[in-house]
Amino acid sequence: MPTLNASEIVRGHILQVTSAALGHGAEELKDGALLLDTKGHILKKGNFADISKEYSSLPVRDYSGSLILPSFFDTHIHFPQLDMIGSCAEELLLWLQRYTFPREAAFRGRTQFVKDAAKNFVDELASNGTSFAVVYSSSCGEATDVLFEEFERRGLRVILGKTSMDRHCPDEISVDVEQDKAWTEMLIKKWHKKTDRLHYALTPRFAPSCTNELMAMLAKLHDDDPSLYMQTHYAENRNEIEWVAELYPEAKSYLDVYDSRDLLNSKTILAHSIHTNAEDEQLLLERDVVISHCPTSNLFLGSGLFKGKSYLEQGLKVTLGTDVGAGTSFSQWQSMNEAYKVAQLKQERLSPSDIFALATVAAGKHLGFPNLGCLEEGYIADFQVIDPESRPILARHLAMATTAEERLTALIHFADDRCLKELNIQGQPVYKRA
Ligand SMILES: [Zn+2]
Repeated sequence: MPTLNASEIVRGHILQVTSAALGHGAEELKDGALLLDTKGHILKKGNFADISKEYSSLPVRDYSGSLILPSFFDTHIHFPQLDMIGSCAEELLLWLQRYTFPREAAFRGRTQFVKDAAKNFVDELASNGTSFAVVYSSSCGEATDVLFEEFERRGLRVILGKTSMDRHCPDEISVDVEQDKAWTEMLIKKWHKKTDRLHYALTPRFAPSCTNELMAMLAKLHDDDPSLYMQTHYAENRNEIEWVAELYPEAKSYLDVYDSRDLLNSKTILAHSIHTNAEDEQLLLERDVVISHCPTSNLFLGSGLFKGKSYLEQGLKVTLGTDVGAGTSFSQWQSMNEAYKVAQLKQERLSPSDIFALATVAAGKHLGFPNLGCLEEGYIADFQVIDPESRPILARHLAMATTAEERLTALIHFADDRCLKELNIQGQPVYKRA
């Protein structure tokens, strides 16, 4: 009996990972079809022959010859670092001082510069197949407002916050507690859950950038509204960890700086989390926090090698981020490529499908969107269409591959923004290659 609100059939070679569980593997349907309803929800997945026979009156969006995959989550990225990708410094703290802080000062106000940058930023995400980003804006409320407007206009999904920082940075980007509170409250009121695609995250940059007063103000907002996300950096490099110990002598650990203020729960997204001990990992697990692994950033700044497999085996909620601009690419394919190598250097083995899950089905589940990140019945049709012929080397490797896992491996090594033909959110295109 055909479903009443079924509206169209999407046809193509479906390739995906359907579970966040380690070792689940990749799956594919070579001549597959998704049956969508009018709201872009997936009513059914199956072989095109079967679905088209059952729903013969429905229009077919035909991507035959192309791959259809879940679109990406990028769980850690900085808007005001758009222009400084590849700026070389020996390590995180010097990099922040020399390049990041001076550059972030340009991302202030409702200027044409900020509007253009917001457009470029969202364009880069979409053209790299990212439909859901978790973003740090600058410390300026107005610039963050502009970025929210751009996400709303383009229809991409976002968890976004104004970065809060009131010490150890230049005056131009330092925002005092009173102003920070006013901007943060304005943004939450205006944007948090305005639609199901827009969400706010309280965003203390990291412990060294925040006074006790600023942390207390954010902790109060966090406590007042449990639906808010909280994002910050944690345990990225050794110098940073030593500095936190000096700045917070009363804290039991770096993680305790956040935990003692009740900032850790299932809506907390911690970037990096590299240098941890068993006690830290137990607390990360107990507090149920989401971790964003950012391999291109960690390699670029020489921050350290993430313990991906060990974390996943412990049940920690690992996802994948680009961390532009310490990260060197907007492409999550590139993040996956480097995540694989980081695991190799740790003498851990993660399969391409384990890593692909971190930017798709695992991210959806861990961020609280269990109906995103996978193309199965009951999920929302956020998907990307990849053209295998876009790069001859990709076409060769895809043609040689004999399994879904091998096809995913080829994409991780050869796919980039040249290969994306179309990005769809809730079944509607938000990006089409020119
Ligand atoms: Zn970062």
